[in-house]
This record gives sequence, C-alpha cells and structure tokens, in this order.
Amino acid sequence: MLIKPPSRTDLHQAYTAAGCVVCGLLTRSERRYIDATLYEHVTDVKWRAEVRAARGFCALHTQHVLEVGRSALGVALVTADILNTLRGTLAATAEGGGGALGRLRSALGGGSTPSALRPQQPCPICSYLAEFSSVHLAALLDDLATEAGQAAYARSGGLCLPHFTAAVERGGPGVRPLAKHQAQVWERLEAELNEFIRKSDYQYSAEIMEAERDAWRRALLLLAGT
Ligand SMILES: [Zn+2]
Ligand SMILES: [Zn+2]
Repeated sequence: MLIKPPSRTDLHQAYTAAGCVVCGLLTRSERRYIDATLYEHVTDVKWRAEVRAARGFCALHTQHVLEVGRSALGVALVTADILNTLRGTLAATAEGGGGALGRLRSALGGGSTPSALRPQQPCPICSYLAEFSSVHLAALLDDLATEAGQAAYARSGGLCLPHFTAAVERGGPGVRPLAKHQAQVWERLEAELNEFIRKSDYQYSAEIMEAERDAWRRALLLLAGT
C-alpha cells in the first residue's frame, strides 16, 4: 500500500486532537489500511502472501481488525488461506523422515530447526505502521521547522514517549521546538496529577475534581503510546 506523508492541513488538524499527535495519525492510517486490505483489495496476491507468511496478525492488531468490522469476508478468505498452508505444512512434516516425535517437535519450533508453522515474517500491520510512523515523524519535524508549524503545534497534546524519543533521534531543526513544547506538556500534566493526588486525600475530598480527574489515564497513555 502506498505511503503518502500527511498534508499540512491533516497535520494541523491532528495537533488539535487529544493525546499523542503521531498515535492519532497512526490510528487513522491503521483503520484505512485494514479497510483497504481486508475489504477493498483482499484479492491482492502480494498482500495475501505477506499475511499468510505472517500467519495472520499480532494479538493487538487482531483486536483492531475485529473492532473495525466490515471485513468479515476478507478475514474469512485470509484465515482460510493460512489454515490451508498450516495443514499442508503439518502434512509435509508428518510424511518426512525421522521419528514422529522429533518431526512434530521440529514443526512446533523445538530444537534448532525454525518451525515452518510459526510466523515467517512480522505482522503486516506492525510493519506498515512502523513505516508510516517514520513518514509522520519526518513530516512533523519538517512542519516544526517553520513558524506557522510551531504556532499550530503549540495547541497540541505533544507526543507519547516512544514517538518523542524517535523524533529526537531523527534530529534536525524541528527537534528544539518539539522538545520545548514537550517539556511544557509534561509540566502541565504533572501539575494535574499532583492536584488529583491532593484532592484524593480524605481531608480535601469535598473539593470537586475538575480536568485533573482523568490525568492518571492521560499520563499512562502519554508514556506508552496507543
Ligand atoms: Zn505516539
Ligand atoms: Zn501487529
């Protein structure tokens, strides 16, 4: 699937959403990818071979495929493909030489022989998103090298820790404004957490929780990414 960098309009729109800017863009990209591959282009031979070699998707992306819906037929086609391949592999193993127990262990990944039953390549959605995250980070850093980009980014919720460290590692003139804003995001969030902790004390339990009521959830997501 073709990977295009986000337009400046898309980027600036992403700055206004809650949470990590890049995670937000990736969530949209992932949904489009699932729709395009499992619904619109499920007959794509090259992609089908990738999914077959990966033995499907990782546990996280399997959950996302189930959430997206609209892809029941696509999922049926690719999983039937994979089961057929697995059956063929198992049959070939059973027909080969050597002891029955040794052959089965080998097929299941025991010993030094890499198992033909296991995934032969990474989850296609993981691979696609890794590539996309690099494209998004490059576009973000380019935008932050401009004054208009910095002004728009000032409204954003910053980046999660994995995307922030990846952006810093890329380097370039966009890193300085990115880091300055990130420090402010962390400072604000830390203040909200301290307010949440203070109001959680029984002495102050009469005080009403405001925006800080879900600061713990936002902090957890901002550390891990989504
Ligand atoms: Zn992120
Ligand atoms: Zn995955």
